Order: sequence, then C-alpha cells, then structure tokens
Amino acid sequence: MDVLPGVKCSVQNCRFWENGHRCSASAIEVNVDGGGANARQSEQTNCRTFQLK
Ligand code: SF4
Repeated sequence: MDVLPGVKCSVQNCRFWENGHRCSASAIEVNVDGGGANARQSEQTNCRTFQLK
C-alpha cells in the first residue's frame, strides 16, 4: 500500500485512511472551511479528498 509521505491524518472513517495515521490517496486537496483562501488556524482547514468509508 503506497501512502503519502509526510501526511499524518486522524480521520479514521475516510476510505483512504490507513493504520498509523497514514493516507493512501494519490494526492490530497486541502481547503479553508467555508471557502476563501485564508485560514486563521489549523482547525479552519479540511481535506477535500475525504471519502466516507
Ligand atoms: S484523503 Fe484526507 S481525510 Fe482521507 S486519509 Fe487522506 S488526508 Fe485523511
């Protein structure tokens, strides 16, 4: 299973999630919650590549 190096993810119900907080997607897209291009803190960002397992 190939995983994205350097990506640590805690979203365990994503179909791309692997044990050890790894991501098996070929690439990920991360956006700002609510749109736009400026987040003020990490909690305002999210992974658009998420797919429900
Ligand atoms: S696609 Fe996003 S949410 Fe899913 S495991 Fe990878 S980083 Fe996490």
